[in-house]
Amino acid sequence: MSYKIHVAEPCLDGNEKAYVMDCLESSWISSRGKYIEQFEEMVADFCSARHAVATNNGTTALHLALAALGVGPGDEVIVPTLSYIASANAVRYCGATPVFVDSCLPHLTLDPAQVVAKITSKTRAIMSVPLYGHPVDLDPILEIAEAHGLFVVEDAAEALGAKYRGRSVGSLGNCVTFSFFGNKIITTGEGGMVVTQDGELANRLRLLRGQGVSPTRRYWHTEVGFNYRMTNICAAIGCAQMERIDYHLSRRREVADWYFEALKRHDDLFVLPYQASWAHHCYWMFTLIMRDHVDVQRDAVIQSMERRGIETRPVFYPMHSMPPYQYDTNRYPVADRYALRGISLPTHAGLSRVDVDFVCRELMASIREATSQMESTLPRAA
Ligand SMILES: *Cc1c(COP(=O)(O)O)cnc(C)c1O
Repeated sequence: MSYKIHVAEPCLDGNEKAYVMDCLESSWISSRGKYIEQFEEMVADFCSARHAVATNNGTTALHLALAALGVGPGDEVIVPTLSYIASANAVRYCGATPVFVDSCLPHLTLDPAQVVAKITSKTRAIMSVPLYGHPVDLDPILEIAEAHGLFVVEDAAEALGAKYRGRSVGSLGNCVTFSFFGNKIITTGEGGMVVTQDGELANRLRLLRGQGVSPTRRYWHTEVGFNYRMTNICAAIGCAQMERIDYHLSRRREVADWYFEALKRHDDLFVLPYQASWAHHCYWMFTLIMRDHVDVQRDAVIQSMERRGIETRPVFYPMHSMPPYQYDTNRYPVADRYALRGISLPTHAGLSRVDVDFVCRELMASIREATSQMESTLPRAA
């Protein structure tokens, strides 16, 4: 399918090409070189964190964070079921068990009351996920963690630039991870980062990222580590992206504002993205939920949009509903319901007002089309 409008698209119109050429011309293309530290510093500064450790993707960043905190076999980590699969997988890579909780409305991030209910003697950490770019209400989570002696790891893959009570996502909790996959707020192709305020933890993260090699003795490995290093080429792209982070974020905000303007008169049909009074949303994906009385199949709307040349995406399937995690047979009503009714609209820095108006017009037409499909399949009264 060739789309006229993609749901996400990287925006590479800064110094990306020049810095990548610099890597090629200087032959610093592997995981040493000036751009790596520079990129780490730029991300640390941006989120007011003392330390940043770049990795080769967001999933390894999360695994590295959990491993560096010592999460291991027999441990439990509390994870919202409504997230991307990497959140739970990273826990499993440590040999630990993800214990799911539901999300709460209206911002679809994990529910503190449910977190408390799931704490056991095995719980080691709570993973908070600022879904689609809305920060998590972290103060209650940090309090719970403190009271029970737990770590807080934030999977902020989608939330670079989001703020909680004026503080940057990335400055709170024990470790915060980001992803720089091609559809995220900024991209390095594939890439990730762990940020932390804790210097000792940062040293552990670096040690484990680089095969557990001793910082003082070459080729001497003190423990089983990983190769989760980022290349200088990826970091070069990251530096160019970070130079324009304010631009990337303000463009997304503008796109979101246009969506709100065009769709607010239809809020009888959709729940539009919510921004709590304490939150600064970074609008990774402008995600709306079709209200219950709207009698259409979400996937029919997605298909109709596709025929109109517009790529959209469904909300994540709750992790407990998928084969690796079906051992959890609890019900998570918010996640289950929203996963079936949610659609993310194209959200990226390259969209114009004309594009956004086109998407909204075609969305309304798709809803009408999907409604008439539903009606024509209803059994007729005798
Ligand atoms: C994208 C994403 C990840 C994983 O990032 P990768 O760089 O693709 O490995 C993890 N968690 C969430 C919530 C994400 O959206």
